[in-house]
Amino acid sequence: MIVKTIVNPLKTLSRQSCLLPTIARRYLSSEVPVGGPAFALTEDQQSIQELARKFTAEEIIPKAAYHDQTGEYPTEIIKKAWELGLVNLHIPQDYGGMGLGVLDSAIVSEELAYGCTGIQTAMEANGLAEAPVILAASHEQKKKYLGRMSEEPLMAAYCVTEPIAGSDVASIQTKAEKKGDKWILNGQKMWITNGGKANWYFVLAKTDASARAGDAFTGFIVDADSPGISVGRKEINMGQRASDTRGITFEDVEVSDENRLGEVGKGFKIAMGAFDITRPLVAAGAVGLARRALDEALKYSMERKTMGRSIIQHQAISFMLADMAMGVESSRMMVWRAGWMRDQGQRNTYYASIAKALASEVANKCAADAVQIFGGNGYNTEYPVEKLMRDAKIFQIYEGTSQIQRLIISRHLAESMK
Ligand SMILES: Cc1cc2nc3c(=O)[nH]c(=O)nc-3n(C[C@H](O)[C@H](O)[C@H](O)COP(=O)(O)OP(=O)(O)OC[C@H]3O[C@@H](n4cnc5c(N)ncnc54)[C@H](O)[C@@H]3O)c2cc1C
Repeated sequence: MIVKTIVNPLKTLSRQSCLLPTIARRYLSSEVPVGGPAFALTEDQQSIQELARKFTAEEIIPKAAYHDQTGEYPTEIIKKAWELGLVNLHIPQDYGGMGLGVLDSAIVSEELAYGCTGIQTAMEANGLAEAPVILAASHEQKKKYLGRMSEEPLMAAYCVTEPIAGSDVASIQTKAEKKGDKWILNGQKMWITNGGKANWYFVLAKTDASARAGDAFTGFIVDADSPGISVGRKEINMGQRASDTRGITFEDVEVSDENRLGEVGKGFKIAMGAFDITRPLVAAGAVGLARRALDEALKYSMERKTMGRSIIQHQAISFMLADMAMGVESSRMMVWRAGWMRDQGQRNTYYASIAKALASEVANKCAADAVQIFGGNGYNTEYPVEKLMRDAKIFQIYEGTSQIQRLIISRHLAESMK
């Protein structure tokens, strides 16, 4: 049934279960525009954008500096976001989620990131862990693990990187050996976002040491309270300090064959396939950070006076602001395109990589320029822009470094000439 009237989310701010499935149903039923590119958001997308923007202003921005300074995990903020349906956006409706598309999710991610990318990353990491499950899990697995995320404000984590291998995923060493109807996992993962907060992990492990990467790895869903798992200390990172990053060790961890994700040997494709969904969302976070840097710098440049005029009246400053705006607008378009393509069922790997590389570079440039525009104040923790500069760097590293994105983009270019 297509629901014609929509509850105004700003008036009702109620539990996700009563509000957002309505938005999702309407969006899914809306007609695909014909006649060429369309850049306007639908009414539902505008509603969810407004909801996320209001939530960011009221709940994230006032507390961002506290979580940055203390490194305290933003549990209460995440709970509230979950209650409003701003987390786990792409869990299908059959499993209690909103079933929103990548473009819808990108709109939300940009808004949350505007407030604090550390807090947004903590929420986004759920999406990263859920993506392989959405792509490859059985109905029973989805019901159990995605259903759980819809019922309670739980966290999940994606465990692929190891101390010895990040970009070179094919070199990871964590093994899973079959013993009867169980798998025994041994190995060490590193830099796992939500590592100490997750209820379950997606884990990529080697199941055939002699096979090529496409056949050597298998994905598993592992309950975080399984005996044999030890969680390392919270890492002290340069930025995004609200986010929880840890090493996770698996020592003779028993995992039932029921928790194997997809076919034995096909985990590499599943783990990498998740990035077509999540890279546009990480890129959207970078756009949010860049937009915040622009807004802060613009405001400051109107207020600060030197040599008898506002600094925005110096062309050197106004041109920096113009460059920042060019970066924000163009990287957002690339994010939306990568998300939209995925939602249309089109292969978007090339565009997802362009969006991720472009938006993360724009975020770093905008944050550094904002610090420059603030002068000495920009270098001080009393002002918001030094945090943006620290937070921005990780966008060029996680979910595939900028070099790896260029590798993917250039391989597609070479392929297109064959
Ligand atoms: C805060 C944080 C959160 C993270 N969250 C997660 C998570 O939740 N789950 C997870 O699995 N991982 C996570 N990661 C890991 C992250 O994805 C990796 O750090 C990243 O992929 C890079 O891997 P690496 O650190 O091993 O660097 P390396 O792979 O050792 O790379 C070192 C340098 O060499 C370059 N390089 C490597 N190979 C090539 C090549 N072929 N061509 C050109 N240049 C190359 C890289 O771009 C980089 O500049 C996180 C990392 C951090 C810091």
